[in-house]
Amino acid sequence: MTKNNKQTIVIKLGTSVLTAGSQTLNKPRLVELVRQCVTLRQAGHQVIVVSSGAVAAGRGVLQQQIGHSLAEKQMLAAIGQGQLIHLWQSLFSIYDITVAQMLLTRADLEHRERYLTARDMLTKLLEHHVVPIINENDAVATSEIKVGDNDNLSAYVAILANADKLVLLTDQHGLFTADPRANPDAQLIEQVTHINDELRALAGGSGTQLGTGGMATKLQAADIAQRAGVDVVIAKGSEYDILPQVLTQTAPSTTFLKFDAPVGGRKRWLLSGPKSTGKIICDNGAINAVCNQGASLLAKGIVSIEGQFKRGELVQVFCQQGTLQAQGLTSLSNQELGLVIGRHSSEFAQCLGFESAEEIIHRDNLVLLNQHSQQEVLN
Ligand code: GLU
Repeated sequence: MTKNNKQTIVIKLGTSVLTAGSQTLNKPRLVELVRQCVTLRQAGHQVIVVSSGAVAAGRGVLQQQIGHSLAEKQMLAAIGQGQLIHLWQSLFSIYDITVAQMLLTRADLEHRERYLTARDMLTKLLEHHVVPIINENDAVATSEIKVGDNDNLSAYVAILANADKLVLLTDQHGLFTADPRANPDAQLIEQVTHINDELRALAGGSGTQLGTGGMATKLQAADIAQRAGVDVVIAKGSEYDILPQVLTQTAPSTTFLKFDAPVGGRKRWLLSGPKSTGKIICDNGAINAVCNQGASLLAKGIVSIEGQFKRGELVQVFCQQGTLQAQGLTSLSNQELGLVIGRHSSEFAQCLGFESAEEIIHRDNLVLLNQHSQQEVLN
């Protein structure tokens, strides 16, 4: 966290930035970005780079027509990741800066122990003034264990590193009121306090052929990071001195302000680690108790469930109006929970055949996701 204005900054470099819109890595662009990272380091900030571009680098090396199947993309990532880290290493070494490669998948974040191991390693690298260069481990990641895009991955990294700021560099200045490529009247949205459905609708889908993300995944990333106390900035990677400009707030950009009361401690992991496998839909009384009165989620207020989940897995909690309100670790599987929906805990033993905790999601295992619009939902 902030130490005398010295910040820990996660910089996510999308494929569109690293290729400068071409099909392969643009080396002058990388040189320029390294120079800017060094400027931030010289000002006393810690820098972590989340670098895409492995697949693009692999295409550049092979120079053949390669398709888009999972195996083909994994092959390209395996070829390209080596090239990518080599380039970063040689460019940072000009300034006598050591880099370290860290390849993550969702599986590394899902289990609390692995998450803590990754966190400790990242902390050690920063203590030793090494620049971590992070990417998804695309060569081995299957869809089940993949984060899938580096926008979300960079939000998880920002949480792991307890970062102050996440800068998502892309081929646009930020989030606009309409697609600026199609609409000249589109206005840049400079500041966002809370991401709502209207903004999500503006964000649309993926922007480029080569990269995986788009504004939609950037909003997902910002949404997670804001809650964990990280300011998020989307800015244009090709602008001159964009990184120093982001810090002095002089660049055209969109800033998502961190929440006043961010999620702390173990609950940060609940935001970034496990993947949700099911849904619990609750009546407004239960939502009110959980969101406004600090209560745990009880079976009595549950209306229905969806999906399959085991005990201890992450599930999402929705109100009947369909808004995501919270997520947390369930004490019962979907089959067990199905037997006690709407019931009082005194009936659990009879319905389940065993004693079980009265809380379906204990307060300590639950993180709220919709504090801002809570009153609206209930009115
Ligand atoms: N991990 C992918 C790569 O290095 C990029 C994912 C993304 O574009 O979000 O090519």
